Amino acid sequence: MSVNLKFLGGVRTVTGSSHLVTTDKSEILLDAGMFQGHRDESYMINATLHYNPRKIKAMVLSHAHIDHCGNIPILIKKGLRCKIYATSATKDLTALMLEDSGKIQEEDVRYVNKINKRLGLPPREPLYTKKEAMRATKIFRSISYEQRFCIAKECFATLHDAGHILGSSIIVLDVKDGVKNIRIGYAVDLGRKNLPLLNDPVIPHRLDYLIIESTYGGRFHAPIEEAQSRLREAINRAVQRGGKILIPSFALERTQEVLYFLNELIKQQLVPSIPIYVDSPLATGITDLFTHHMDFLDSKTRQAIARGESPFELLNLRFVRDQTESKALNIDKRPMIIIAGSGMCESGRMLHHLKNNIEDSRNMVLVVGYMAKNTLGRKIVEREKLVRIFGVEYELNAEVVIINAFSGHADKTELVDFVRQCLPLKRIFLVHGDEEQTLHLYDALVAMGQNVLIPFKGEEVLLS
Ligand SMILES: [Zn+2]
Ligand SMILES: [Zn+2]
Repeated sequence: MSVNLKFLGGVRTVTGSSHLVTTDKSEILLDAGMFQGHRDESYMINATLHYNPRKIKAMVLSHAHIDHCGNIPILIKKGLRCKIYATSATKDLTALMLEDSGKIQEEDVRYVNKINKRLGLPPREPLYTKKEAMRATKIFRSISYEQRFCIAKECFATLHDAGHILGSSIIVLDVKDGVKNIRIGYAVDLGRKNLPLLNDPVIPHRLDYLIIESTYGGRFHAPIEEAQSRLREAINRAVQRGGKILIPSFALERTQEVLYFLNELIKQQLVPSIPIYVDSPLATGITDLFTHHMDFLDSKTRQAIARGESPFELLNLRFVRDQTESKALNIDKRPMIIIAGSGMCESGRMLHHLKNNIEDSRNMVLVVGYMAKNTLGRKIVEREKLVRIFGVEYELNAEVVIINAFSGHADKTELVDFVRQCLPLKRIFLVHGDEEQTLHLYDALVAMGQNVLIPFKGEEVLLS
């Protein structure tokens, strides 16, 4: 009997996490994330599978970010029929995230096919449609944290709180190999201590092997508490000059974190109680799920909600559902905070708000998340004088404030600390990181005397 671990994706890069554990009897899939990069390359990578999804006996999903769940509808189209195990919060969040992703795939293909038609090239099919995406959650099975669950012959899974986003899990697999038991830990992605709304990551014990992310393997985050004081300074400055504050934000977790800090600031009367708009149907749906899945929130937030002080029910907070109301915000010239997607300013309602407000020096763009290269968000972060929105150039006169303290990922110190608490380990596999970052963590762990591998895509290792 043998147990084999194959790294299908999300190695030596940050997106597309997926790994396959094979025993004599079963194939178990950990995550099926979407690779996100340049359009054509991403399409090819996501559409090409190097295994047969029909053979998978069980899948376990760590959390609802698209780089971990985004390819599930593709697998189902190609024959995946097994159950997908995840927490109930992950199941519900994934439903919203995949529906949105299906919509994006359809819009994207419509755009590509317009160009293809002009060039005389054949039309392209979307990776999956919104309808296909919505089918995915039918095969989900919810499991609670700390509950050992049989997922396939001779294979058990236990989920521990990863403290990364609502419902996120560190997955522990117990695989029987003859008389031996092999225990594999999967901490991808791993959160941080003291994040608002969430519990701290749980340390799994008696692992043989650990697969761990390395997104910030070489960086050190500012303490999360700093986010609140930076927000306070920025908001007060913009309000004093009568400006609007635009916060481009990811719909999942970052939006709710920002609301949490705004609630704290307003409660303590550290910022004026100006109107706050969450202008994103996806973020609105996700925020509802935070209240629905209160069990997954930390005790401080649960107690606040019980006292009627929910960070998601501020008096001056409004969730904008339809486009007419969204457009009306452009006419309203009062100071206000607008939180909208997309997080990197590539699509969504944030583009309209930027277009209407970016040339006025009283206004502010408040950056609370990562902006990838070549995105409009990155151009704003680099304070380019002219930025192009919907094909038109606009002067960037609004103040740009960047708050780096927000991050849902463990940094170098926290990753090393987590590994130290998991010791002893037979071997550690570093995934989910750009090579430069992964190498920093590799050096630190090797210096601790650990056996560490940075796998390549498609590489297989035998576990014993
Ligand atoms: Zn994540
Ligand atoms: Zn990730």
